[in-house]
Amino acid sequence: MSRLPVMSTKRLLGSVENIPDSQPIQKKFRRDPDSVRPKVAATVVGTKRAPVASTRPPLAKPMRGGVHTAATVAVGPSKGVPKASVASSAANRGNVKPSGASTGTKEGGGGGGATRRQPWDLKGKVSDMQVKLHTFQSKVKSADKENEELRISVAETQRELSRQRSLISEQESKLLALAGVQAELEQVCSEKNTLQMELTNLQSKHKVMETLRISQETELQTLKMNYSVQETTLARLQVSLRDAEEQVCSLKDTVSQQKDQLHAGEMERRRLHNTIQELKGNIRVFCRVRPLVGGGLSKHIQLAPADDKTITLAKTEESHTGRSADTQKNYNFSFDRVFGPQASQQEIFEEMSLLVQSALDGYNVCCFAYGQTGSGKTYTMEGADYDEARGVIPRAVQQIFRAAKKLEEQGWEFTFTASFVEIYNESLRDLLYTGKASKRPEHEIRKSASNKVTITNLVYQQVCNEDQVLGLIALANQNRSTAQTNQNDRSSRSHSVFQLDIKAVNAGRDVTCNSTLCLVDLAGSERMLKSQSQGERFKEMTAINGSLSNLGIVIAALANKESHVPYRNSKLTYLLQGCLGGNSKTLMFVNIAPEPDSFGESLNSLRFASKVNECVIGTASANRK
Ligand code: ADP
Ligand code: MG
Repeated sequence: MSRLPVMSTKRLLGSVENIPDSQPIQKKFRRDPDSVRPKVAATVVGTKRAPVASTRPPLAKPMRGGVHTAATVAVGPSKGVPKASVASSAANRGNVKPSGASTGTKEGGGGGGATRRQPWDLKGKVSDMQVKLHTFQSKVKSADKENEELRISVAETQRELSRQRSLISEQESKLLALAGVQAELEQVCSEKNTLQMELTNLQSKHKVMETLRISQETELQTLKMNYSVQETTLARLQVSLRDAEEQVCSLKDTVSQQKDQLHAGEMERRRLHNTIQELKGNIRVFCRVRPLVGGGLSKHIQLAPADDKTITLAKTEESHTGRSADTQKNYNFSFDRVFGPQASQQEIFEEMSLLVQSALDGYNVCCFAYGQTGSGKTYTMEGADYDEARGVIPRAVQQIFRAAKKLEEQGWEFTFTASFVEIYNESLRDLLYTGKASKRPEHEIRKSASNKVTITNLVYQQVCNEDQVLGLIALANQNRSTAQTNQNDRSSRSHSVFQLDIKAVNAGRDVTCNSTLCLVDLAGSERMLKSQSQGERFKEMTAINGSLSNLGIVIAALANKESHVPYRNSKLTYLLQGCLGGNSKTLMFVNIAPEPDSFGESLNSLRFASKVNECVIGTASANRK
């Protein structure tokens, strides 16, 4: 509501009713506003209403801006603001000039001669007043209208404002939402980048995989082709396998036939081998002459160059009287073989190896070395450590194990048992004993019902290979008693007997062979003068002489086919009984020392050996069941 001082319309209308034409009155009023106003004020004083002219400048339509300002001013002030100040301030601004004033100025300038009411013209004055009032009323009306319009406009503006505000808040919330969307977009962007990178990665991987796939496909193709080729090959092979199986069947038959033939051949070989050995003599004597210490050979020993079977000992005897020429006496001996000083260990063993084969074939074999001390018995039997110098024992052992291995392929199974014994002063000593010296057991030679000779408390060591046997030989050498004589150590005063029992079983053919290989290094055969030997030495000498001469006697008895063979007369012959009987093959080496001062001993040895060589031991038969 406008706070402008508005007069009651009723009262105003009542007073204006009588005015026929408002326009001329208005014109009149405009001509002299100043003169009118105080009069109005004076007139209105009694009504207690604020004088309109003084409170408010007349509102004029022409200036919209001015109206606005006036409206704004009219709306704005608070209740407490005095109305006069409003009017004056409006007037001071000069934006809105009181229409009456301007009109008055205009009228005054134009009319020049406006008529003033006469003091007595009260009616006219009232009429003027009424015109004025009417003008004011219409002005008020238009102001009210304007005011109303302004109010509407203000309300509209306010509505517009609130609409704009709500729009702004709406936009703000939209903006907020958009900010969220922006953040989301950024996140999405970064995610997109990550995904892009991942994609790139995956693409490169894909590329690699693709390459791999292509190569694998190629490989697969190749494999498929190979597979089909293999299938064809397989089919072909299956056909040939069937053929081969048939062939195998027929070959198996052939093999079993050939095995039979082989076995028959093996048995035939054994028979023929034995025949040859028998023709060579079941007892063979080989003579071996040791080289001189400085090399060469003594004059007194002569070996026929074209013949390897004879040896001659020549002795030049000086004439006792000195008148006649010196006489030379030759002692000729012939043996199965005579080996000179150059003969190698290998040559010596070649002959022996035939007998080793006989031992594997199931025949008892005995090999011993006879001769004076220093003549080369131990060298012949054992030899030295290095390969070419190995003697009969290690070579025989090697041959046996190698041959056994071959025979195992033909179904033979072998069991070997070794023993090593020393006979010293007619007592037995176990060379494989490893216990305390104080607890050495006593030994006795026993003969079983099956004529098998065994020694009580002796170590019979089962062996499966060459090395084990060589180990036992080394142990025996350690154990060998050593008591000094003035010629040599105790080992030369005792017989050492190495025995290898061979048991061969061919279960498939139901054949079992038992045999013994006996390798003996005899004590020195030298004879000492009784004056040189006393006490222990005398006892030793007697024992050695006894056993060696008994060996000769036994061989002679066997040769003469005597009913009684005195095996029991010495431990040596008793122990070698199985190897010296009709069922055995014997090889004797007679070792000769070439030195002139050994002439006598050499002669004795050769005589003993030729006595043995003359013996024909009864035909041997293999210990076969
Ligand atoms: P024995 O056992 O008969 O007492 P050895 O075998 O101990 O005699 O030989 C005596 C020495 O002669 C040893 O040094 C041995 O090496 C050597 N000897 C023996 N026979 C031969 C030979 N055929 N060739 C080379 N040296 C030998
Ligand atoms: Mg010796």
